[in-house]
Amino acid sequence: MKLKPRTRNYCKVLSVEDDKDYQDALLNGLNALNYDNKKVDFLTASSALEAATVIAENPDISVIFLDVVMETDHAGLRLIRTIREDIGNDLVRIVLLTGQAGMTSADDLISQYDIDDYWCKSDLTQVHLQTIVLSNLRTWEHLSDMKEARHSMQLLLAASQRIASKSDISDYTHSILEELGQLLKVKNGGIVCFFHPEKEDLANASIVATSGEFSVHKNRYFLPAIEDDVLKDTVLNAYEQKKHVFIDGFSVLYFSNKELDGRVYMVVVKINRTLAANEINLLQVFCENIGAGFRNVALNNKLTELAYIEPTLGIHNKNWLIRDIRDMFSWEREKATLLMVCVDDLAYTESVLGASYCDQLILSLYDYLNDFFGQSVDIAMLERDTLMLVVYDDKEYTELSLERIIHTNIKVEKATHSLDLTISSVTLSDFPSYSAEQLISVGKSTLARAKYEDVAFLAFSNELASAMFGRFELLQDLREAILNDDIMAYFQPKVSLKDSTLIGFEALARWEHKNGSFIPPDVFISLAESSGLIAKLDRQILRQSCRAIHTLKGIGINVPISVNVAGNEIIRPDFISTFKAILEEEQAPTELIELEITESQLINEKATINRHLSALKALGVNTNIDDFGTGYSSLAYLSTLAVSTLKIDHSFVWQMEESEKDWEILKMIIELGNLLGLSVVAEGIETEQQKTHLLALGCENGQGYLFAKPMSIDDTIYWVQKGR
Ligand code: C2E
Ligand code: MG
Ligand code: MG
Repeated sequence: MKLKPRTRNYCKVLSVEDDKDYQDALLNGLNALNYDNKKVDFLTASSALEAATVIAENPDISVIFLDVVMETDHAGLRLIRTIREDIGNDLVRIVLLTGQAGMTSADDLISQYDIDDYWCKSDLTQVHLQTIVLSNLRTWEHLSDMKEARHSMQLLLAASQRIASKSDISDYTHSILEELGQLLKVKNGGIVCFFHPEKEDLANASIVATSGEFSVHKNRYFLPAIEDDVLKDTVLNAYEQKKHVFIDGFSVLYFSNKELDGRVYMVVVKINRTLAANEINLLQVFCENIGAGFRNVALNNKLTELAYIEPTLGIHNKNWLIRDIRDMFSWEREKATLLMVCVDDLAYTESVLGASYCDQLILSLYDYLNDFFGQSVDIAMLERDTLMLVVYDDKEYTELSLERIIHTNIKVEKATHSLDLTISSVTLSDFPSYSAEQLISVGKSTLARAKYEDVAFLAFSNELASAMFGRFELLQDLREAILNDDIMAYFQPKVSLKDSTLIGFEALARWEHKNGSFIPPDVFISLAESSGLIAKLDRQILRQSCRAIHTLKGIGINVPISVNVAGNEIIRPDFISTFKAILEEEQAPTELIELEITESQLINEKATINRHLSALKALGVNTNIDDFGTGYSSLAYLSTLAVSTLKIDHSFVWQMEESEKDWEILKMIIELGNLLGLSVVAEGIETEQQKTHLLALGCENGQGYLFAKPMSIDDTIYWVQKGR
């Protein structure tokens, strides 16, 4: 089809002239004018003032014949300024006419005023007149087309920018209809639909957006919604030809987005007129932008999908659940519970049955949980072995109510797999100020705690929160204290029970928290052990003990100080070398530093322990077995170890007067020690009576509050010099 230019089937010419006779002659001369068979309207004005009004009311005047001299000598010239600047019409062609030849030169006028031609009335023949009008009409039309095109391009650009900002398909398609309406200045409305040509046909296309008179079809299928037969044919035609079709009254646009979302989109806009060629051009350009927009939306959806889906199993991920929780209405939060469900020992199952079996297992569990909780659940994957559920059903979950899923059988690859689950729960209404991230984080910590306590179910509560987070804050403070060397060694004397002579000290760690309170060693030692800080702490106590040896030497005291070694530190490959390096740096005599290792530490990795203890002995360092009697070492094993001292656990000392059994054990330990040639130290002696009994049983040395509590180095010096 050859496109016709926009049809303007008339044109307007204005004569501004105060000489009525001349004006009549002028119009007469133009009577026979033929310009593309268009109707030429002649308008007249007899003064500059009147002309201004006519021009303002008729912005589509193409040519003005303007007399210079009218009510004043320069009324015509002044009118030019009014037209261009006040009325703002820069398109109209102005032909200036003057009665007196040579009044001003044509060149001067044309350069000073925005006019197109200048004639002396007497020179203007009829032929001239017609030529002047025709050429100016043509120029005007050309310029006004260009101006319109520029304006359209601006509209198009703005419309394209507006649609480009939409990332949701519904928003996007509605804005397409709106922008098309504005661009084409039509208000009848339109429809946008889509379908998957691979799976369905056009008849089943779903409507995504409607506007104007099509709004009633919002929830219908596309084709049935089109009542106009011509339009229906055009739609089919556009679909078959896979291109946009413009007919009188309608534009049907076709967009294939198959490679990105598998969809074909079609847009119908009703336009109650014939579109001009430039409008169709404009529409074509706009369609390019619409097509790009569909691609953007699909791409955006794909990215969103990637961001919210766990790729291997296709289950929603944590980000998705965070969004889910964030978007909850308050009434939904009121009845929601967050559950974390962890498959016990999945790593083991995976090592035996393989990764793809475990994938199936998790997917089966996913389906099983979906069934169990019915409609009211959202499930996402937190980790390989852990699913997170948000259940909206107002119930309070307990171990009992979850019994059926804690131990369950599910079908995996036609076989039945029996599962044990560990579950934590957080009731959202109990923690209204918690963000989605915080809820998930406490759910996770509660799950970890359930595993640590070896329970199948644990509910997050305020009590649990303070236990968990109190520990966390304390750990931060401990880290800081160790970093600043704020943990102090206190010294508790060991004495000979016979005559209370000082035989040594045990170094015990003390932490004065920055809030002024002393944190019990039982609390911070286990915290340091579980967080990997203990080795650092023990090294600091060792250094302080080395310095204490020098200090005590300064006042004439030459007794050993024993330091405790935690957990599995003793079997660390670099333990001996680090230990030795510190003694060397601090220039401490090795025979004055002893180690205390608990009996329970001796049970693991016997070969390494034996090797390390022998190495220590070779260095001249004595080793004490701490808390003896609470572990399970055999006599035969003990006799093979390079140790010097047995420290009897305080529990036997405290119980010996009440429990015959403890008395017997105590007796046996002391005899055993003596038999093996080991020195025996009883811990926790608080009374004279305990001391007397221990002496009677053959125990020679002791440590306890009866003699002194652990003391700072200054108090230790004072105690040695004055107090004891
Ligand atoms: P432990 O090595 O068995 O230390 C003896 C504990 O008994 C100390 O408790 C000491 O203050 C306490 N004690 C001594 N005599 C008496 C008494 O007559 N009555 C009572 N009721 N208690 C007495 P402390 O200082 O609370 O230390 C507890 C445990 O923490 C220690 O047991 C030791 O296993 C560990 N520990 C202390 N300091 C360190 C250290 O620097 N490094 C390591 N790894 N562990 C340490
Ligand atoms: Mg000890
Ligand atoms: Mg002890």
